[in-house]
Amino acid sequence: MSAEPLISKCPSVCIVTGASRGLGRAFTLALAKILHKDSIFVLMARSVNLLQEVKNELIKDVSKSPSHVIIVEFDQKKVVGKEFVENLFTQILQPQLSSAMGTADYDTCLILHNAGTLGDPKKKAVELTDVEEIKNYFNINLNGLIVFNAMCLRELFANTKNRFLVNISSLAGIQAFKCLSSYCTGKAARDMFFKVLAIEEPSIRVLNYAPGPVDTDMQTYLRENISDAESKEKMKELVEQGNLLKAEDSAQKLVEILCRNTFTSGDHVDYFD
Ligand code: NDP
Repeated sequence: MSAEPLISKCPSVCIVTGASRGLGRAFTLALAKILHKDSIFVLMARSVNLLQEVKNELIKDVSKSPSHVIIVEFDQKKVVGKEFVENLFTQILQPQLSSAMGTADYDTCLILHNAGTLGDPKKKAVELTDVEEIKNYFNINLNGLIVFNAMCLRELFANTKNRFLVNISSLAGIQAFKCLSSYCTGKAARDMFFKVLAIEEPSIRVLNYAPGPVDTDMQTYLRENISDAESKEKMKELVEQGNLLKAEDSAQKLVEILCRNTFTSGDHVDYFD
């Protein structure tokens, strides 16, 4: 029996949301090292220029680069609009993917739901009175993700043999943190959404991956802006003691988990597990 991991055995279509920077960029580069060389990457985020930079890195080494890298400008909160979704799938994703795939077989797909925002870390739960702000938060981080995920499975990967879904979760999905009520709620809801999906669809491998505290724009913004003094102090200590992870290290850990492929579908797995 071959020891090659299932995920790298045959060409994949790999979709990464929030691939423009931080963890999304690191996940993309790490996955490119292990996926089959004829794989197709679809990189999605709002900043097309940054996506182009990630694409340039992916194709720098021709011998190791994926066969196609597609860049798609994407704002997850807009996925809640019917017209936007239809356009995204019928005018952009389906035609670009079928042109990249040609007549070849793609037996594996991986959707990495990484795009995410923090909410306002200056506000406690009792200060959340603006319903538009709350709707906007959950449209990006939950509602948009749910619709995008379902549309991908229905419109792009209904007949794909090996399907992997990764939700980028957080410790905040299973533990409460002050001034992060929207963030914690969104992450907890995403975890549960994917747990349900995992039991409904036993043929899909579903992973909720918590990447640990990682040195990215989001982490910096949180440290500088959180209004809870004790949390701020703890976050400063993380930096001072050199305990913030590098995005590359957390990405490598995710790749190892996917390659081992021994997780229980729907489980929440942390970098430190
Ligand atoms: P960054 O803020 O550095 O990056 C966020 C990514 O999401 C960017 O690529 C951004 O791209 C994209 N994004 C933001 N808003 C939208 C939107 N409306 N539509 C589409 N894409 C969007 O964050 P991290 O890299 O730190 O975080 C990535 C994921 O990891 C998040 O889900 C986060 O919650 C999670 N996480 C991070 C931790 C950390 O310590 N850093 C810890 C635990 C979890 P663009 O702006 O171009 O749209």
